Amino acid sequence: MTNFRLVLGTHNQKKMRELRLLLEPLGIELMGLADFENSVVVEETGETFHANAKLNSTQQALHLGEWVLGEDSGLCVTALGGAPGVYSARFAGDSATDEDNNRLLLERMEKIPLEKRTAFYVCHMSLSDPDGNEHISCFGRCYGRIIQTHKGTGGFGYDPMFELTEYHQTFGELGDAVKSVLSHRARATREFVPRLLEIISQQ
Ligand code: IMP
Repeated sequence: MTNFRLVLGTHNQKKMRELRLLLEPLGIELMGLADFENSVVVEETGETFHANAKLNSTQQALHLGEWVLGEDSGLCVTALGGAPGVYSARFAGDSATDEDNNRLLLERMEKIPLEKRTAFYVCHMSLSDPDGNEHISCFGRCYGRIIQTHKGTGGFGYDPMFELTEYHQTFGELGDAVKSVLSHRARATREFVPRLLEIISQQ
């Protein structure tokens, strides 16, 4: 496993922290875009999580000449027809903060009763080699519902409103240890890791 360097194609520090917790115990050397002066900004112009994850991994990998893990994730709310979906980060506008997005989501869902507030998070992962060829494409989902208020300070993004129905607690309340097992990112990682290890063993 030594000598394999993986670059996480994201500037989102909270996402980065979660991915580090999931991948570093495997002994994989993880770097972030902040470690490279010449990383590019890849526009997420795709209409699916996979399209955006792939754009990110293939373009960044080709540019940096490194193996890159592209990750695109977001929240899909059933009663909103799957919104905010791929627009989760910019639901309330291009420079929206998590608070802006959360406020807008609560407003849009104001009249929706609890039993119809089902939602799921999606995380799509794409791994590309230094020539920009995609080798792995996989995803994970995590089901729950959007409560009518904010609870807890853990996680990020929509986490204080995303309740795991069977736990009666939000990801904001449940904390890192639980999120690192049950989240969409954790589930995608469990698909990703065996395939990554196979690739590493062939290097
Ligand atoms: P991306 O950086 O384009 O993948 O956008 C991810 C956005 O989806 C974040 O800014 C959050 O709004 C939302 N999101 C993705 N994963 C999570 C999560 O684990 N918790 C809360 N919000 C998330």
